[in-house]
Amino acid sequence: MSEFSLINRYCKGIGPQHPQTVLGVGDDAALLTIPAGNELAVSVDTMVEGVHFTADTDPADLAHKILAVNVSDMAAMGAVAQWATLALTLPQQDHAWLHAFSTQLKLSAQQFNLQLVGGDTTRGALCLSLQVLGLVKTGCALRRDQAYVGDSVWVTGNLGDAALALHLREKEILNIDAQLNQALDRPQPPVEFAAQLGGLANAAIDISDGLVADLTHIATCSDVSIVVDSALLPLSEAFHAAQYGTVELALYGGDDYQLAFTAPASAARRLRQLADECSVRLSCIGDVIAYDQRRVSLRKQGQYFAPEPKQGFNHF
Ligand code: ADP
Ligand code: MG
Repeated sequence: MSEFSLINRYCKGIGPQHPQTVLGVGDDAALLTIPAGNELAVSVDTMVEGVHFTADTDPADLAHKILAVNVSDMAAMGAVAQWATLALTLPQQDHAWLHAFSTQLKLSAQQFNLQLVGGDTTRGALCLSLQVLGLVKTGCALRRDQAYVGDSVWVTGNLGDAALALHLREKEILNIDAQLNQALDRPQPPVEFAAQLGGLANAAIDISDGLVADLTHIATCSDVSIVVDSALLPLSEAFHAAQYGTVELALYGGDDYQLAFTAPASAARRLRQLADECSVRLSCIGDVIAYDQRRVSLRKQGQYFAPEPKQGFNHF
């Protein structure tokens, strides 16, 4: 099958047709209209075989995850994902693989209301690179550099489930709880909640490299310190029940694709209401304080601790 038939069969008609899409897949470039009063949020995330996933990973899981990790970045900006372009590098034409990938890509793109409007298809070691484009009301984006002393620190969802699933797989433990596996294979960023955070939250980030590593980015960019109460970390029942479910995994493990954000105390009531409306678990886990030697500290029964020095995933 030619490259063009492959694109037609597997990469066309993915996701809803947005009214602001003038031209989607099929020309040299897509044409998109940015509605007045909006800014365009743009981000790209790549998943490489052997680095982000193993060769035997279910293509349906890859399809969901490449969308979810990018949608998570939009959520972290308070933006709503609209469009995506996909650079697909494949070792060969494996139609069973492509069919499974494309079928799930369609389902998850519908779920995230994201239209695939272009991309690139090449041969090589398996690699998926997705660029996402989203809209955010002008001036309302949630940035990393806007945390203020006195803000509370919040997180959505549960922490550590995905890292625990990975850890258990590496230990070749069988019968891993389905919820833990889902957290790793099918992350569900809190899209609806995030879209309404503008005006409530001050600074936000999505938790991809581990809570402490990602909060450190907010603290550094905002020139403040953050204190996290380790007893307040949201852990799932499955996490509590599983072997190896330690607080360290929730603090330093990655792949949560939940949001961490800071907000003034006055926003607390409205935040809890919004979380209820969106069926999102929301936990207040700490405070923003003036810069004090460490960017992020852990508080446990009134005592302060430094986080472990090697924290978060870093490719280099
Ligand atoms: P060009 O040679 O102009 O770069 P291509 O031959 O790479 O165009 O792609 C043809 C059309 O198919 C373009 O509109 C491109 O955006 C789209 N396309 C290519 N690969 C993908 C993909 N993996 N997913 C979605 N669209 C794709
Ligand atoms: Mg061209």
